[in-house]
Amino acid sequence: MRFAQRLGRITTAASFDMLARGRALEARGRSIVHLGIGEPDFDTPAFIRDAAKRALDEGWTHYGPAPGLPEFRASIAASWRERRAIPCEARHVVVTPGAKPVLFFAMLALLEAGDEVIIPSPAFPNYGSIAQLADARVVPTPLRADRGFDLDLDALRARINARTRVLVLNSPHNPTGAVLPDATLHALRELVLEHDLAVIADDIYGDMVYEGRYTAFASLPGMFERTVTVDGFSKTWAMTGWRLGFGIMEEALARHMAALMNNSNSCTATFVQKAGDAALHGPRDEVVAMIAEFRVRRDLVVEALNAIPGVRCGRPAGAFYVFPRIERPGLTAEQLADRLLDEAGVVTLPGTAFGAEGEGYLRLSYANSVENLREGVRRIGQFLATA
Ligand code: PLP
Repeated sequence: MRFAQRLGRITTAASFDMLARGRALEARGRSIVHLGIGEPDFDTPAFIRDAAKRALDEGWTHYGPAPGLPEFRASIAASWRERRAIPCEARHVVVTPGAKPVLFFAMLALLEAGDEVIIPSPAFPNYGSIAQLADARVVPTPLRADRGFDLDLDALRARINARTRVLVLNSPHNPTGAVLPDATLHALRELVLEHDLAVIADDIYGDMVYEGRYTAFASLPGMFERTVTVDGFSKTWAMTGWRLGFGIMEEALARHMAALMNNSNSCTATFVQKAGDAALHGPRDEVVAMIAEFRVRRDLVVEALNAIPGVRCGRPAGAFYVFPRIERPGLTAEQLADRLLDEAGVVTLPGTAFGAEGEGYLRLSYANSVENLREGVRRIGQFLATA
């Protein structure tokens, strides 16, 4: 077979590769601490699992409408209106198998070949990969490490030109955990209006904010019409394997996205949507407890990392990642992550897996037990002291 050239423009997430390498070492009997993959280590709450079982028994096993079950779209719209102040109705919501398809469809729908998309760097690697698959040109814009990984607005402004179509935002942020301050969001709003841009706002970590304020970009005046909000159930309800996400966008785009769903997935599994609907209407105590636990772990990891000579780690306000700077002359971030895995038995991700600006950093996920986090950081400290 001969493969299409576009395959050369895709990259796959390093987190899955590192997970596989860690698992392979474990299969050979090595003790491995996993601080790589970004998924809650909690189980999906029982009432959500029960709702899925009930839905299966009730016959929710057939095709549903491409953009999602009407009652579920209405529940999402009501919830996001109330909790995130996004002025949406059911017709603005498209349900997808995970949040990633929304990123995929949004780029396909908004970008012509040669259009430019500005993506903060470091960033979730799939943004750039999908944009390139859509024939767009990726323009990275740096985050300011010295300002808690806030966007550098001057640098961003300098990157906007007549071909710029889309700005990608992600707050709380993967990999740094940073939450964009309201002042930055308001300045971004001005830029979006001035240059007639569309925004893809990845709000998937929007419930995981430990202090300060988190504002959904689509809730700012005039921004709903220009924003595709990407969100889902993977992180908040510990439902990564269920594949349940959604996008919120203006109605015409929602219709195009439904057509893209029709052409790719037909629909999102209907019993999974019923479980998602139950999640929205059910108790939030487990979610609240999980987030409280993440906060405790964040503090523990930040403190333990900062106690290691040569390591500097800020205290991010959101998500479940830390992004420490590690001074290690002679080793790139990738070499360091490789050696930490092979020699110390800790899975981490090199900052460069998220863009060139990640050189000198590692990303650690603290979605792991306190015991494993302590052991993982201990191993990192020991490696840095002796290797
Ligand atoms: N966006 C960001 C920033 C993420 O970190 C992830 C998952 O790691 C996703 C989107 C994908 O979410 P889902 O598993 O719902 O497709």
